[in-house]
Formats: sequence, structure tokens, C-alpha cells
Amino acid sequence: MPNNSYEDFLYDEDQRLHSVYEVQKEYEQNNGDISKYRDKMLCPECKRAKLRFTHKTSERRAFLSTFPTSNHEKGCSYNYDLASNRAVKQFVATLTDEQVHDRLEAMLNTLLPRYRRDNENAVNAEQENPFVIDTGARNHQLNRRAISRKSMNRWFDKADENNIFLFYGKVRLSVEETKTKKGKRYRLIVKTKRGVEWIQKTRIFRGMAKDAIDENTTYDLAVMGHLEFYNILPQIVTESWTSILYREARRKEETIEYIL
Ligand SMILES: [Zn+2]
Repeated sequence: MPNNSYEDFLYDEDQRLHSVYEVQKEYEQNNGDISKYRDKMLCPECKRAKLRFTHKTSERRAFLSTFPTSNHEKGCSYNYDLASNRAVKQFVATLTDEQVHDRLEAMLNTLLPRYRRDNENAVNAEQENPFVIDTGARNHQLNRRAISRKSMNRWFDKADENNIFLFYGKVRLSVEETKTKKGKRYRLIVKTKRGVEWIQKTRIFRGMAKDAIDENTTYDLAVMGHLEFYNILPQIVTESWTSILYREARRKEETIEYIL
């Protein structure tokens, strides 16, 4: 499947990230005129390829795709089609716990850099892009695919159920304990910031792992997993018990997050 998984784009006018929903809103309020954005939407990763907008219908969500005559930087993960769930599962199964950790850390460094040097050369042909995986050589050609990503600040909906994503974002966490016949089990409650408040967004199954969480600390979180809905509540099931990484976010990050 072609990689139209952009959630954000770099707006050439202000050099900040904006969301596809913002363009959809403009489309609706302005009788389909989105000239404000046309030719000014760039790939959020390599900041080079131009993107175009396809509006929402009753059948599908609005989305962004690469303009046909426009190219990404060589190392950009949007050069590749999206990996299937099977390919991601197979890939994760070949990694050691440490390799999973390193990969999640590299992803966080790209998406939510703590220090400027974290994402220097993040998109560089010489360097491995953490979102790109090899899915096995075919006809002596490397076969590469990209892992989808989903911000914790975006809408989780039923259409996403069972697709594997790298979920990421700035969050607050707390631990929920449940008693089962087999003993205690834990979940992480994930909250995202809306306005000035931290609101529950989702939960993550942790099995027997009890995380040491400070509820007043803001964390950068990366989780490889898929969504399952219980009633209307989305929960994330991790691909393996180790495919989660959280680290203390830098202070004031909320205000600098979207300035590139
Ligand atoms: Zn790109």
C-alpha cells in the first residue's frame, strides 16, 4: 500500500508542523479553496518533497500524498510503501530486546528530539532510518518498507484497529493494577494534554510488568503495537513486552515541539 500516512506536514510559510485536519477544515470553510496551502505543504520528515491534499468523503478520511513529480530525500522513510502487519511482526521477532530498545530510541530522537543533535542527520542517506525495515531480499534487490506512525495527539478510530503503528507523543502516565486469578496485572494509563489539562487517551497492557512511574512527570513515549477497542475505549497492545520506551521529556517541550 502506498505510504500516504502523513499526519502532519511542514508548512513552508511558517516552517512549522500543521495537521491534515487543518487543511480539511479550510477546504470545508472555504468552498474547496485551499490555495493558502497549495504547493506549500512539505514532507514532515525530509522537508523536501511537496505534498498534495485529498479531501474527505463519506468513504474515506482526508489524506496527504507525495506530489507525483516531487522527490523525497534519499534517506526519507516516505520513499517506501508501508510495511504490512506481518512484515512488522516478523521484523520485530528477529530483534533482541536491546535492538528493540535502540530502534524505539532512534524513533523518538527523530520524532521528539530532546537535543538538537538528536535528530541531526536524522534523514541522511548514509544513516539508517529507524522507520525503514528490510522485509527480505527479492530478486537480489533489497525490499524495504516503512513502519506507520501515529501521534498520541491524533484521533484513534475503529478503522485503525489491528494495524501496527509506532505510537508516540508527549504524555503523562499512571499505573493501574488489576487482580486476576493468575495474580496482579498492570496497565499504563496514557494521558495527553488538551488545553491545560491532561486527559486520558488510551491504556497499554503491561502484563506482569509494573512500571515505576512518576505521575507528575511528562514523558516522551514510543510504543510499537496495535489498537484494540473495548466498548469505545482504545487500548494499545504492544508487539512484545519490550516494545515500549518512555523517557522524561525536556521541560518546556510543549512549546518548542513544533518549531523546527
Ligand atoms: Zn520525505
